Amino acid sequence: MNALAATNRNFRQASRILGLDSKIEKSLLIPFREIKVECTLPKDDGTLVSYIGFRVQHDNARGPMKGGIRYHPEVDPDEVNALAQLMTWKTAVADIPYGGAKGGIGCTPKDLSTSELERLTRVFTQKIHDLIGVNTDVPAPDMGTNAQTMAWILDEYSKFHGYSPAVVTGKPIDLGGSLGREAATGRGVVYATEALLAEHGKSIKGLTFAIQGFGNVGSWAASLLHERGGKVVAVSDITGAVKNSNGIDITALIQHKEATGKLADFNGADAMDANDLLTHECDVLIPCALGGVLNRENAGDVKAKFIIEAANHPTDPDADEILTKKGVTILPDIYANAGGVTVSYFEWVQNIQGFMWDEEKVNQELKRYMTRAFHNIKGMCHSHNCNLRMGAFTLGVNRVARATSLRGWEA
Ligand code: GLU
Repeated sequence: MNALAATNRNFRQASRILGLDSKIEKSLLIPFREIKVECTLPKDDGTLVSYIGFRVQHDNARGPMKGGIRYHPEVDPDEVNALAQLMTWKTAVADIPYGGAKGGIGCTPKDLSTSELERLTRVFTQKIHDLIGVNTDVPAPDMGTNAQTMAWILDEYSKFHGYSPAVVTGKPIDLGGSLGREAATGRGVVYATEALLAEHGKSIKGLTFAIQGFGNVGSWAASLLHERGGKVVAVSDITGAVKNSNGIDITALIQHKEATGKLADFNGADAMDANDLLTHECDVLIPCALGGVLNRENAGDVKAKFIIEAANHPTDPDADEILTKKGVTILPDIYANAGGVTVSYFEWVQNIQGFMWDEEKVNQELKRYMTRAFHNIKGMCHSHNCNLRMGAFTLGVNRVARATSLRGWEA
């Protein structure tokens, strides 16, 4: 089942549980606006190359639409649609005053030079600048993009509309980025994990963790778990995988990856097959990479008792069913990885106020938002006798449905 079908299915199930009116259900399912643009640019060698860029603005009932822009070869319209919808529920679960959006360009960023990436980003911004804005749609980094990408978007946007730092979040600190934003998704994953484990009378210290993905989210999550006494026993990324049943020294692994660009050949751990990461022996599994990685093929072999969905839609509906039957507790993406967009919200608020918070305040507020959302989700689980995924979906969908009906229907 593709990402959009799976997301729609979760939405419909939540809508049934909530007994939503069919008019509201239909309006929440259909995206507000889908944008598809051609981005043609000269490569460094003078030849022309074209890419397709997407921005799907899913819903704005609760505020400006919000979500990342992804540069990845697998970007396709259905996937961007699903991710935009997930952002609507995610911002509602976190209770930040936003709707949901997502963008992407189907490209392989590592095959492009820095100046080609800059041109691509500027051309894409030229095509969408009239449709984004501080109070309409606020992009952020996602897979394959970063603070530098946001700086280019900000600069290009500002040529048309004047300097407006709050039009993007996840910016470099020098351009109004927030302290703590870089680590925020990984840190939010750790706060979410702490909330879940506390519920089960456990804590991070002494538990074993396997982490798929060692980019921004995976490496921050790993290092904060390590700092709290968690044993990270296996880590993988696109370059390979390493394991150590006594716990990997994550600080040393980060240094090794920075120096060599890969996980392999790290002294403090043994090499392993990256395909075995998801079924590796551990207490907590944290997928931090692509969607759909847990499926019918591998779900039955998962050893973890807890799965924290740091990636977006890593568990397809077949796997969800198999894992639930096995008694695995899954902390869903629209809650578990909401730390990034929550600190994006803090960044936007700071830009609008023209005031900068210190990092301690950012982290404290992030913890407060993540803990509150967890208890709100548990409240829905109790009221509707459902699992955490449906608890999060019903929480998010209900908040958006309420805002939609309050705003009314008159044309
Ligand atoms: N790309 C991140 C996400 O999927 C962050 C979005 C944002 O900060 O707006 O949640």
